[in-house]
Amino acid sequence: MTPGPTHVIRCPLCSQLGKYPTVASGNTFGTVYYTDGKRVAPMLPTTPSVVRCGFCRGSFWRKAAAEVGQFTEQREEPANVDAEWLLAGYLDEPDEGEYLAAVERLISSTPAEERSIRLFTWWRGNDRHRGTSPTLGGDNPEAVNRRHDNMRALLPLLATAESADLIMRAEVLRQLGEFELATKALTRHFPAAFDTAISRLLYLCARRDSMLQKL
Ligand SMILES: [Zn+2]
Repeated sequence: MTPGPTHVIRCPLCSQLGKYPTVASGNTFGTVYYTDGKRVAPMLPTTPSVVRCGFCRGSFWRKAAAEVGQFTEQREEPANVDAEWLLAGYLDEPDEGEYLAAVERLISSTPAEERSIRLFTWWRGNDRHRGTSPTLGGDNPEAVNRRHDNMRALLPLLATAESADLIMRAEVLRQLGEFELATKALTRHFPAAFDTAISRLLYLCARRDSMLQKL
């Protein structure tokens, strides 16, 4: 994996600087695919589209922030790089609670992106079941309600002509415990490339299993 330049941007909420690294080249070795459609490629990390400011903790679209500059990270402190850039905090993806807290504001500022915002929020919530030490349970009922509200609001946004969207829609239904509706949504003609995913989802529906799984 070859690092690319680090970008410095200005938080549109508080005007403080934040930065994020980029990858110039990587590979898809070790990529894991999940039933919710998210792909995790450890050797090809992507920069989140929505980030959280380390200063004000607010979440915003990365593309909505003004870019201040770029520099190459080095082991020694590079000369002729603005000290403010070096001190700027790294921008992370919001966690599920932060997404849910910001979801209405993000949608009202970019209505065309509602599908993406709700999808990222759903995926971020599912992250608790990914990786080597998935977390089970421990969510308070209010957090579960807000998660489910977002998932239900995502359903009509995935009712498009795209097979991948329709399959993700069935997966949202399965995770909501709507196994019959999910099975019905999968029982139609899809391109052969989706056969593995569809068989897996139908099997999980038949077992009445609503957990996120690897494909
Ligand atoms: Zn900020």
